[in-house]
Amino acid sequence: MNELTQKNKEIRTRFAPSPTGVLHVGGARTALFNYLFARQNGGEFVLRIEDTDKERSKKEYEDDILNGLKWLGIEWDEFYRQSERGEIYKKYIQKLLSDGKAFISEEKEGKSKSVIRFKNPNTKVKFNDEIRGEIEFDTAELGDFVIAKDEETPLYHLAVVVDDFEIGITHIIRGEDHISNTPRQILIQDAIGASRPIYAHIPLILGADRSKLSKRHGAASVNEYREKGYLPEAFVNFMAFLGWNPGDEREIFSMDELIKEFSLKKIQKGGAVFNTDRLNWLNSQYIKKMDIDRLTELCLPYLSRQLSAVSFQEDQKEKIKKIIEIKRERMNTLAEAGGEIEYFFEQPKYEKEKLLWKKEKDLTATKKHLEEILKLLKPLDETVFSGEEVKKMIWDYAEEQGRGNVLWPFRMALTGVDKSPDPFSVAEILGKKETINRLQNAINKL
Ligand code: GLU
Repeated sequence: MNELTQKNKEIRTRFAPSPTGVLHVGGARTALFNYLFARQNGGEFVLRIEDTDKERSKKEYEDDILNGLKWLGIEWDEFYRQSERGEIYKKYIQKLLSDGKAFISEEKEGKSKSVIRFKNPNTKVKFNDEIRGEIEFDTAELGDFVIAKDEETPLYHLAVVVDDFEIGITHIIRGEDHISNTPRQILIQDAIGASRPIYAHIPLILGADRSKLSKRHGAASVNEYREKGYLPEAFVNFMAFLGWNPGDEREIFSMDELIKEFSLKKIQKGGAVFNTDRLNWLNSQYIKKMDIDRLTELCLPYLSRQLSAVSFQEDQKEKIKKIIEIKRERMNTLAEAGGEIEYFFEQPKYEKEKLLWKKEKDLTATKKHLEEILKLLKPLDETVFSGEEVKKMIWDYAEEQGRGNVLWPFRMALTGVDKSPDPFSVAEILGKKETINRLQNAINKL
């Protein structure tokens, strides 16, 4: 192939999961890197479900993989399922047999069971890995390995090689655990006359203790992260940095920016540590900047769980939007939009002793502060009852009497809980009537 055709040759990558389990972070990252590389080069990204293992493959796992990729925004251009390609493999198996490059072998153990073995030429196989450099294997150790159970039933190595060739895959980007599979696959490529794709084996993902990432380290399935309230944009951004980085200080990358900047050359050799604090931080950054309507929509499922007790209704969306607006500054995940927020929808219940600020001497003084707040807020017009206006009315008094002494009982009267946003923001959301009402209730308690 001359240089020109080489250059013009379309780049085609693939993600080839076996549907024997749900989509995990490792698989999703492999898919992402393949997707980014294909898009960056104006090429194509192929999704191939490797379901030759009939016992272990399940439709529900395939669905989980597809849904996970869709959620992440990793779109494929072509889709294949190995279970539908039996005729193609058969053709290659027959050819290998008739060429004398494979043979039927009677298995000694058990009853008259036969398999198809590859006739290993026992050569040294050398390949260049984009990330790890030159790798050499002596394939003599591999023996005449099994490539199919029978003419209709290829095993993993054969199916992968046939598919990558037939589908025209140019670059194989996959986990480092596949390095040891590569020599066998190259031998089969040579035997069927397939061209050799370019390999890039990406580093394993490790937990904080530097052992291979697993369930032990918390959630590992993509869907679990989705349910916990991580945003797909943040998760993509996070995964991109598992083994890659732009080589400078930038940390926030949209999918489009990743497509521009991603580079196989910048992928590290060493394991990529999965850092949950970093994921949380990234997610919080996206939550802070997200369009408030979309954020509210995404938070609703988490809120309705919280609010079912207080008869959550559709028409409360505007109020919820305001709640999210003040909460998002401190949220790491969408799930955190929940928590203690019932007080926005119903009268808080609390013991009157709660109204007493720790540095205040007694409840008589507390009562006096609440009465004063009530007096200061009454003249405020309902239509200008904003957090800022409320603050303006009360601030001088609070400064004079001690902020805690005044603002603590104010906040407690409105929320009834120890931790909540500041009383001004809460008052704005409750509105004048309800704020006055709750202040009055607190005074009556005392
Ligand atoms: N189906 C294989 C797996 O799930 C991947 C094959 C490949 O990437 O070559 O691990």
